[in-house]
Amino acid sequence: MSTSAEHESLTVSKPNFDFEKKSQTRYHLTKKSCLPNRILIKSSPFIITAGDQGQVDVLENKSIYIEETEIRAVFPSNEKVVDESKVDLIYDAGARGGLVLTPGFINAHDHVPMYLMRSAMILDYAQDLDRLVSKMPLWQKYISGSAAFISALGDLTEQQRAGITTTLNHNALFTEIDEAAELCGQRMINCVSAVSNSRPGTTLESCKQYLRASKRPLSSGGVALHYLFKVDRNLLTAIRDLQEHHQMLVTMHFAESDGTARECVKRFGMRETKLLEEHGLLNPLTLLSHVLHVTEQEIAKLVDTKVGIVHLPTSNVIHKSGIFNYPAFASFGGSERVALGTDSVVSKSRLDLLSEAFQTRITHLPGYTVYYEDLFKMITINGARVLNQPNLGRIAPGFKADIAFWKLKDRGFLPFDEDDPKTLIGNIISHGGRNIRDLMVGGKFIISNRMHNLVNESMLLPEIQRRHMEVRKLVERDKIKLEEEQK
Ligand SMILES: [Zn+2]
Repeated sequence: MSTSAEHESLTVSKPNFDFEKKSQTRYHLTKKSCLPNRILIKSSPFIITAGDQGQVDVLENKSIYIEETEIRAVFPSNEKVVDESKVDLIYDAGARGGLVLTPGFINAHDHVPMYLMRSAMILDYAQDLDRLVSKMPLWQKYISGSAAFISALGDLTEQQRAGITTTLNHNALFTEIDEAAELCGQRMINCVSAVSNSRPGTTLESCKQYLRASKRPLSSGGVALHYLFKVDRNLLTAIRDLQEHHQMLVTMHFAESDGTARECVKRFGMRETKLLEEHGLLNPLTLLSHVLHVTEQEIAKLVDTKVGIVHLPTSNVIHKSGIFNYPAFASFGGSERVALGTDSVVSKSRLDLLSEAFQTRITHLPGYTVYYEDLFKMITINGARVLNQPNLGRIAPGFKADIAFWKLKDRGFLPFDEDDPKTLIGNIISHGGRNIRDLMVGGKFIISNRMHNLVNESMLLPEIQRRHMEVRKLVERDKIKLEEEQK
């Protein structure tokens, strides 16, 4: 676990609301309060969000009123719906070309403590999944305690800069992760491994412990399995009981490689889909990542039973694992339950969903066009749907105030067709990822004027570098030892 001195050196004491340059600032505090509860986001030229029928709309010239953690109203900028003298903070989203607002994006699959492993494997000659999986434990063994905390803080803050406000963490660790999430203000779903690839000591008991524990308001729990062939039937029954009792998510890597699909048949005499079905685990609270080596018949079954699917095209191509059959999911009516994830930095170096949405588009071309609006849904409402978070993923009254603010006067948006502002959706996705200007999670500004309000990133980055080298040296030492033993 991390120390309080460590926390202190990484913490920002005052939010970066631009007090100095008053005439230029977008932040107008009406009271001398650092924690505004009633916020008016005024005059955004464009808001991109799904509507109540699930269609993606581009709303023009709107203001948003937020109270505490929630969006209370979205209304035309020229209407006086809110008494401005009663709000704590007015944020000017209209000045200097204005800002485009989107819901905070939802990352449905990540391994948060693996951030320190960037550069450890991605440039290896041997990129196939089975070899990679066997090497991961060498690193993960040393990423625990304060190293895991620093790793998680690096991972989550990078995601925040890409506009991601909710992260599903598939890992055996949770204490250090929640500590990091608390420091940087991220919304988390910690799916705790009942069977882990790299931490052999983990059992279902650790998941239960996390589910029972009192947690920060922005964290919730679930169960993760690394691969099904490593599980026994009693454990699957216990997990199903737990899922029913807590109404919580169960997630796993599913049919990720030909090898893992075959191992399941070898062990259980049946394929993964059938195994989950026999245990009552094909249901809307089950979330399957990758889902590459499945038949069309199995896809029909997964769609019918409303299982959530996480598509990870960059990870799949880097590890040569296979191609996700999106056209089949779409033709069976399952596209609304397909979300996107980054996976860890070992699989996709940039922790960003806009570039992942574009990767999805080019993965399925030229045979199939996944429309930009459908890609936008994958990283917003579809993510919320499969993570069982009905109050996330849209900018609308009653939804949590998780909002990303993007500068319109930027090549990632301009030029666009003013007569058809939906062209902004294609622009933001196809331009290759970008950094946000401001970010709000649960009604709180986490990033303002491109500066993190909670984490001192100029202290964090060298610390990540130091920890990386520390772990790298330990791994190298172990490798030499292992080679000597094998001689
Ligand atoms: Zn994964």
